Amino acid sequence: MSSGAQTVQSLLLVLNAGSSSIKFSVFDARAGQEPAECFHGQIEGIGGAAHFIAKAPGGQVVGEHRWTEAEHVDHQKALVLLSEWLTPHLQGRPLLACGHRVVHGGRRYAQPVLIDDAVLTELEALCPLAPLHQPHNLAPIRAIREHLPDLPQVACFDTAFHHGQDEVVQQFALPRAVTEAGVRRYGFHGLSYEHIASVLPKVHPRLASGRVIVAHLGNGASLCAMHGGRSVASTMGFSALDGLAMGTRCGTLDAGVVFHLQREMKLTPEQTEHMLYHDSGLLGMSGVSNDMRELRTRSSEPQVRLALDIYVHRIVREIGSLAAAMGGLDALVFTAGIGENDADTRAEVLDGCRWLGFMLDVRRNAARGPCITEGDPAQVPSAWVVPTDEEGMLARHVLKVLAARA
Ligand code: ADP
Repeated sequence: MSSGAQTVQSLLLVLNAGSSSIKFSVFDARAGQEPAECFHGQIEGIGGAAHFIAKAPGGQVVGEHRWTEAEHVDHQKALVLLSEWLTPHLQGRPLLACGHRVVHGGRRYAQPVLIDDAVLTELEALCPLAPLHQPHNLAPIRAIREHLPDLPQVACFDTAFHHGQDEVVQQFALPRAVTEAGVRRYGFHGLSYEHIASVLPKVHPRLASGRVIVAHLGNGASLCAMHGGRSVASTMGFSALDGLAMGTRCGTLDAGVVFHLQREMKLTPEQTEHMLYHDSGLLGMSGVSNDMRELRTRSSEPQVRLALDIYVHRIVREIGSLAAAMGGLDALVFTAGIGENDADTRAEVLDGCRWLGFMLDVRRNAARGPCITEGDPAQVPSAWVVPTDEEGMLARHVLKVLAARA
């Protein structure tokens, strides 16, 4: 692909395929410019009553459809439906490439990679490390290779940003042979953290060079300790189950609980896995919902209040742990659905972090900052709200990989 091809108004497709949803974005890829989003959307509820929605960058709905459970929209059918919707909406403009969010790049992939047969085989071999995510990430890659064999496809990894972490941080206190078999901390949400690291210099110079904890608080949630824009440590480890309490995941758990659930409470490994991934976290603790908006409206109910308090307590404790790993903390950045939108969570976390020197500015917190603390960020610890953009990061990676190939 020559870089000249990008002077034609070409499009990039970006896919983020999960266990029950396929999120997509289409970007305009003009030479020498940042990719500009044309529209984005998702098919969610795959395997059940599926729902497709596509929106313009401003949020205006440009396509929507619902299927009943009886219509059996599985992953394969969802991709076909998506391609049927996309074809007329691309308006004859050529697709330059497709980028994929792939959860696991193992120890090998520290950078996005152009996919060929050998790469795909290697990525498939990593499925046992992320059995609930990796197979879903790879399925559309295979389907597109079959139907559009000449379309360049690029895999971008959630683990890649954490590759440079010190060996001391990456290893568990397990026998060497187990570590060498790949049981180690990888860290996830890397595309989100990489995007944040890329914009920190524009937010404040202290953030670009200093010790920063980024709190990616969405349905999945983790913290990343960054020093000079590089990942030093993260709360997610071997799997996306580690660290903070999340929407439906338990986060860090005494491994003895797993034995107890299976030996004494007679859960099978599959039932245990399902409970820890899907029935725990805010949903399991509250018995109400995993949706922060609903939990905030019902926070006077004792079980909901307790779930919210535990959620925040875990964030505050992990911030202490990561600050210790960096030998101090200059700034805290909130991002993703809860981090960007829920002022109460930000206020409660900062209240628990007063000992680190944070002083909440209530008015600026309500206005989403970007800076939400008092004082000069060059002199005292500061907290910020910075929107993430995983899809934009993917698109930029795809263009870079194509340019390197030209
Ligand atoms: P995902 O991990 O699926 O990408 P998101 O980053 O979209 O998740 O975050 C989803 C979470 O963000 C949900 O808990 C949702 O309730 C929360 N959220 C979204 N908008 C708001 C809002 N305005 N106020 C509070 N929470 C919000």
